[in-house]
Amino acid sequence: MLSLRNVTVTYPNGVVALRPTTAVFERGKFIVLLGTSGAGKSTLLRSLNGLVRPTSGEVCVEGRGSIFSSRAHLRAHRRRTGMVFQQHHLIGRLSALDNVLTGRLAAHSVLRSILPLPRADRLLALEALDRVGLADRALDRADQLSGGQQQRVGIARAMAQKPEIVLADEPVASLDPATSVKVLEDLHRICREDGITAIVSLHQVDLARQFADHIIGLAQGRIAFEGAPDQLGSAT
Ligand code: ADP
Ligand code: ADP
Repeated sequence: MLSLRNVTVTYPNGVVALRPTTAVFERGKFIVLLGTSGAGKSTLLRSLNGLVRPTSGEVCVEGRGSIFSSRAHLRAHRRRTGMVFQQHHLIGRLSALDNVLTGRLAAHSVLRSILPLPRADRLLALEALDRVGLADRALDRADQLSGGQQQRVGIARAMAQKPEIVLADEPVASLDPATSVKVLEDLHRICREDGITAIVSLHQVDLARQFADHIIGLAQGRIAFEGAPDQLGSAT
């Protein structure tokens, strides 16, 4: 289990983004962090892979202890954790395939980036694109793809790392509603098939209801609601 124990985050400018928060992220589940802008979703997600260091409290993987216990431990945890962002952070002039491969490289040592890529890596990247329906666009430049397709490349890039956990920060915030559903369907299906724990922040209640196994509602840096989708009142 991945868990937060009494985690707080206060940014250097004094903003308290996360008040004491305790939560367990069950393995293999699709967990949605639901909240409006500024609720602390991004801060919580980033603390789960150490991009944000909690001011107090602990981020733990059961059996392994705190992810911050050593540099090696943090690196290993990050290798097992894929990230998907709202702005997909793709390199526009590179092909979809090369964008997926940059994720593979980041997951390996720096040395790898100056060595030729093994065929196996290219195959894995192609397979990841195939799973989001983009095998036929593999050699197209990323900036020639639609917003939804670019976000799928972002998902493929995270999946090519073969993560145990995927953290997705508002992955569909810049997409229209119909495309949002399709992109979340892809993310949901792949996580299910591979037994990946997904922790996904969203601000749309209807999407949270549709996809989540478990919802954590955040408001002003606190957990305001936690439960199954059918426990989420229509007023929320
Ligand atoms: P067990 O379920 O056998 O008690 P642990 O919870 O200690 O084992 O975790 C064992 C393995 O599962 C580790 O590789 C760990 O990284 C991984 N793991 C634990 N919790 C999660 C999670 N929520 N999501 C993905 N992988 C996890
Ligand atoms: P959400 O993802 O729900 O929009 P965030 O975690 O991004 O919420 O933000 C929570 C609060 O922390 C907000 O008040 C935001 O302005 C503030 N915040 C976020 N990142 C930083 C930062 N790097 N430095 C200072 N304040 C930040």
